[in-house]
Amino acid sequence: MAGRLLLRNFSSHRMWMKAAMLIGSMLVFLALQLILHLDVSWTQHMAYRPSTQSIPISAPWEKAFRNYENFHARCSEHRNWTRQFLEATVESNRSNSHRRFDNCRVLVYVEGGAGMGNRLLSLVSAFLYSLLTKRVFLLDSRGNLPKLLCEPFSNSSWVLPFDFPFKALDEAATLRDFGKATAVSKNSSAQVVRLQLDHDQSVEDGRFFCIETRESLQFVSWLVWTSNQYYVPRFFTFPELWQPLKALFPNVTLTFTHLSRSLLLPSNSLWEKVTRIYSSYLSQADWRLGIQIRRHSVSDKGRYDEPAFDRVLSCLISQKFLPNIEFGNNISSRQETRNSRIPRHVNHAVLVTSLQVKFFEKLRDLYSNTATVDGSLVRLHMVSHEGVEWHSFDQDEKAFIEMWLLSLSDRIATSSFSTFGYIAQGLGAMRPLLVELRGEISEQMSMEMSHVCYIGQSIEPCNHFPFYPTRSQCAVIQTARSNTHLAWIRRNLLPCQDLPQGLQLVS
Ligand code: GDP
Repeated sequence: MAGRLLLRNFSSHRMWMKAAMLIGSMLVFLALQLILHLDVSWTQHMAYRPSTQSIPISAPWEKAFRNYENFHARCSEHRNWTRQFLEATVESNRSNSHRRFDNCRVLVYVEGGAGMGNRLLSLVSAFLYSLLTKRVFLLDSRGNLPKLLCEPFSNSSWVLPFDFPFKALDEAATLRDFGKATAVSKNSSAQVVRLQLDHDQSVEDGRFFCIETRESLQFVSWLVWTSNQYYVPRFFTFPELWQPLKALFPNVTLTFTHLSRSLLLPSNSLWEKVTRIYSSYLSQADWRLGIQIRRHSVSDKGRYDEPAFDRVLSCLISQKFLPNIEFGNNISSRQETRNSRIPRHVNHAVLVTSLQVKFFEKLRDLYSNTATVDGSLVRLHMVSHEGVEWHSFDQDEKAFIEMWLLSLSDRIATSSFSTFGYIAQGLGAMRPLLVELRGEISEQMSMEMSHVCYIGQSIEPCNHFPFYPTRSQCAVIQTARSNTHLAWIRRNLLPCQDLPQGLQLVS
């Protein structure tokens, strides 16, 4: 009967049209994927996001990204990057004056030893700098990121070949090796310069933040970028980059969201894992909450700590991210009054990510042994509990999967100062609930609640160490282009709530 009904409906003209349109659009997607060699996450991830996260891509950014993609393809076509590099360096050794100014200058991103969140933020910053300064952005193939990320450009790769002389990049001159005020002079023979832009960079490396250094770097064919920082907010203060950046990202709080949704898409095998976990444990719920519990400034970041757990729980309940529980009673008042029929409960699926499994177990036990005051049901899930942090490929993969899963939630609670959480909130375009979890919580009992648990002022990650050079570092200290730029900075760049020395884009 049902089959016949279906057939009858199907035979109607409208149904055929609808089916044809559906199949048509699926084929278009499939064809796009095949023609442009795109990974599945590129076309699918929006379908997994709540409607609040469906933010259209900034049109100027999309245009700039597509232009960059063409530039990348043009420069990569018939070009062997290994040969190109060897030729450039040999040529510079032979003669200082005879330089070939190719339009395809390069920036290579070399992964440092930091965690996934730090490395991803740094990659995004390096890419944006490349795009703005018209350099081809390439990844060091020794790292883990090329294996975890989807290739973002059609028809050309962003990964350097395996036979590339990476040692030469590691040993290339840094800003320390150049003269004092103007770091790299126009006449110097440097064809490769290594920028070391970690949080603990030297005074000489910090000359990158001098305008005259950046001007002189234009003449260097190969730049190498290593860092653990999200410098995008700081780029908005560079006089030469402010206007182009403002045009690309009219809503500055979505800058990282656009960048990450273009660059930080998981490879096919990873995306399959993300969607499998999402569909198995999270998709059926009415509400999805992501909780990221990360300890910092403690001797063992993987240790369980009762005061930290209590702080997380009271923060989540007080901010109504989790329903309250009826302490000392295990049947909710709503359940009692409706015991004649099975009530329709709001169903929360909560994904907990942490190195320490006990944070998850305690929450799970609490919500399975105690009733919630509103009768809603809370189901807890955890993907990994690594115990210790050691940045193996396997741990990086799990961390990236978890960042993505957290980003598909309706709401997110993160830990202060954690770049792991920044990635998830940015991908999901969510202002997080931030919980202060640095240091020994038992020694912070007098801390004001507004410093312990608060809603983030922005979706954007914090640039923890923005580096403002001193007069002795730079020949010219130019902080802003004009008074308008200065006024813009005052309005749109604020100290981070979780680290006041840091810089964050807000609107
Ligand atoms: P941050 O140190 O909090 O800024 O975050 P990072 O992502 O830069 O570094 C933390 C690293 O520790 C991650 O890359 C993982 O290797 C590991 N880690 C920390 N917390 C978790 C977690 O909840 N899940 C997984 N899989 N790894 C974690």
